[in-house]
Amino acid sequence: MRPPMKLLDGKWLAAQVQRRVKSEAAARLAHVGRAPGLAVILVGDNPASRAYVANKQKIAAHCGFLTFDAKLPADASFAQVQEAIEKYNADARVDGILLQLPLPKHLQANALLDLIDPVKDADGLHPLNQGLLARGEGQLRPCTPLGVMKLIDLAFSVTEPQGEFDIDQLPQADLAGKKAVVIGRSILVGKPVSALLLERNATVLMTHSKTKDMAAVAREADVLVAAVGVPRLVKADWVKPGAVVIDVGINRLPGGELVGDVDFQQVSEVAGALTPVPGGVGPMTVTMLIYNTLRAYITSQAITSQARPLPNRGVFEETR
Ligand code: NAD
Repeated sequence: MRPPMKLLDGKWLAAQVQRRVKSEAAARLAHVGRAPGLAVILVGDNPASRAYVANKQKIAAHCGFLTFDAKLPADASFAQVQEAIEKYNADARVDGILLQLPLPKHLQANALLDLIDPVKDADGLHPLNQGLLARGEGQLRPCTPLGVMKLIDLAFSVTEPQGEFDIDQLPQADLAGKKAVVIGRSILVGKPVSALLLERNATVLMTHSKTKDMAAVAREADVLVAAVGVPRLVKADWVKPGAVVIDVGINRLPGGELVGDVDFQQVSEVAGALTPVPGGVGPMTVTMLIYNTLRAYITSQAITSQARPLPNRGVFEETR
């Protein structure tokens, strides 16, 4: 009989990281003289983006952060968005800046992301941070990939997702000798996830819409990450028995149901560990934004103050 599948509960994991971030922020408050600050820029009134932004601010506030926001109309000009970015770049109370994507079509997202001060780039999408990631360096990595890696750590650990758990005790999975297959090659997810898997010594295969015989390629994976945007694309016969499967996809079906890129029902019969949708990668993405903001806050204090920095350790120290 096969061992039971481990359900990778992202809500639980996110709560453990948030508790740690909150305590770290509280421990530094008196020392630094201010809380970490997260600024969010939202352009337009896309309901999904509005909900994401509200959630990010709620969790930031829950962790004791200051939050700032700029809400701009859907027809805002490039110069207006630029002005909001530059305002937060110059504001010493702001450690992390998030430009909520997608932007309305008339705005060039990359050109605007380039304007964010790289030390405040909480989403890790500035070309400097993406370049540092490619070199295996840098502090601010994209949030969804960071969350994916923590879920993989949970999959390979003996920790069961229940009760209170000290997240610093979650070992980083060493993926030496393991094959990882990433489906999707976006800047937001596929490419940075592949870079992080490589840092953990996995043998990584990046696949995409032009890959031939995707099912056969996916079946090779000990770790399979699906970041595609096609509802229930990954079926049971795409998955090696016992594999760790991380479902990044968020797809709304015509009837309103939210599903991932993985056919959860089928794949849960085969996988060794699997994330649900909702409640898997999503909560970790938001939480890693707050984590990145805390890292930026710690870095800015190390640069600007003479105060003795508190040690970075555990969850705040990604080994390379
Ligand atoms: P994207 O559209 O930028 O990229 C999709 C990738 O999938 C492309 O590289 C494409 O080549 C590949 N692809 C498309 N069809 C394919 C197929 N049939 N077979 C193999 N590869 C195929 O999307 P993205 O921004 O990377 O997001 C992917 C999914 O993840 C979406 O559903 C998105 O909503 C979701 N997402 C979730 C979170 C989260 O927090 N859970 C965060 C970001 C994105």
